[in-house]
This record gives sequence, C-alpha cells and structure tokens, in this order.
Amino acid sequence: MLKLVLVLIISTILFAKDDLVLKFSSTKVANAKTFMVEAKGKKPEYVAFLGKRFPFYEKPYGDGYYALVSTNYYQRPKHTKAVVVYLENGVKRYRSFAVDIVKGEYKKEKLTVDPSKAKFSPKDRARIAKEAREAKRIYNTYTPTFYIDEPFGYPLHSKITSSFGNSRIFNGILKSYHSGTDFRAKTGTPIIATNSGVVVIAKNRFFAGNSVVIDHGHGIYTGYYHLSKFKVKVGDFVHKGDVVGLSGATGRVTGPHLHFSVHVGGNCVDPLQFLELVNGWLF
Ligand SMILES: [Zn+2]
Repeated sequence: MLKLVLVLIISTILFAKDDLVLKFSSTKVANAKTFMVEAKGKKPEYVAFLGKRFPFYEKPYGDGYYALVSTNYYQRPKHTKAVVVYLENGVKRYRSFAVDIVKGEYKKEKLTVDPSKAKFSPKDRARIAKEAREAKRIYNTYTPTFYIDEPFGYPLHSKITSSFGNSRIFNGILKSYHSGTDFRAKTGTPIIATNSGVVVIAKNRFFAGNSVVIDHGHGIYTGYYHLSKFKVKVGDFVHKGDVVGLSGATGRVTGPHLHFSVHVGGNCVDPLQFLELVNGWLF
C-alpha cells in the first residue's frame, strides 16, 4: 500500500512538472522592451514581474497560451525573477525564472519647441495631469477580446526620423524621453491603423496634439499623434489599414511628423521591437 501511495505521489509530481511547458522569448530584456511567455499543457494565471501581473491568454493562432510582459522605461538594470503562477487542482503553484534587465541602447537628443510646451502654466499642469490619469486608466485595462487577426503593419511607409527611447532635453530645461517612433510625414499624409481594434482616444491632448489610440485587446494599445485631422471617433471599430487621421504638427512638435506609440500591460514600450516580437511569435 505504501509503495502504491509513493508511486502515486511520485507520478503526480512528475505529471505536475510535465503538465505545463513554458517558453520565454528572451530572459534578457532592456528597459521599455517586451518579451513573451508561451505556455503549453494548461493555461497559467499570470506572470508576476516587477510588481505587475501580466495575464495569460489563449493564443489566437496555434496551440497554447501566451503572456506579453513589458518593462518600464525608467526600470534600472538588475537581476530579477519572473514568476509564472498557475493552478494545480485548485492550488496556486509557482515557477520562477531568472530574468536579466539590461540598459537599453538609447540615444540623447536636444530639441527646441515652443516655450509653452517646455515650461508649463498651472493650468497646463492640471491639464497634463488629467490627461496622464486618463491615459493610465486606459492603458491598464485588459480588454479580453482580441481584435487582431493578422500581423501588425506600419502606420505609414516613410523614413524614421527619431527612434523610441532617446533621452530628450527640451529647450535646455525639461528632461524627458521619446515615448514612440517618429516617421517623416508632411501635413495631410494618411495614417493607417497598424491592426484591427476599437478607438479609445480621439481628441486633442497637450503633448500628443490630435491623437488617436486604438485598443487591440489583451492589454495592447497603439497611438497615432500630432494629427491635423481625425478620420475616426471614440467607439469606432477599425480594421488594419483603415485611415485613422491625417498627419500634422499639433501638440509638442518641432515640425510635422507622425509619432507612433505602443503600450503593453500598462507600460510604454519600444513600438518596433514590439511589432517584431508579436508578428514573429503570434503568427
Ligand atoms: Zn515622437
């Protein structure tokens, strides 16, 4: 009897170990980059990483489940752990993985903008804070529906004029970082949705100017800033390739261009690294 119990216990342990197979796209990640954790055998609950929980979803194409895990731009390099949390017969279990956070190779830029966009009046400060709160609430919302049905494209085909992540000094006084990828676009250039989703922001904002943000589901958002004209409104469903607006020079700019941003799991991330990761792993 004891032997049987032992065999049962041992096989349960073995089964539990083999039941869930996890794969990381990378265990070395720079600040403001995204990585993916794939699961097979069962759906884990979430990945706990740097104080945030990144949920697992069923992969829309192919077997298994995935979680997109992002890091904040201001995250400093360190050795840390990502913990995958899952349920085994109703009991919470954990698997932890060493993850190295390294310093992203970002450049430095000095820019000159209208003085009102580098030194703020109390009224501006209130507006900036309100818009930041609104955006934070949106970006931390995980819509369970996945609207994406094909790989991500680009918002337009044009030269990149400023990369994501550059540390910036505006007018010699204000320090910030570049929160998106800039594309050359003369005023009036059609800007298209990089994938399908629902428009959650379509209005003028202090820094972003006329800006459109699309919710793609599963905590993924893309943004299109400094537009001269809107072609969509909040609540619209857009398909990949639909024109969301015309490029322009509204908000804090040095001239007309398109600023393209991506948010994942509440963090502002490097858009082009995200596109490459998702297109490579989900499709
Ligand atoms: Zn930009």
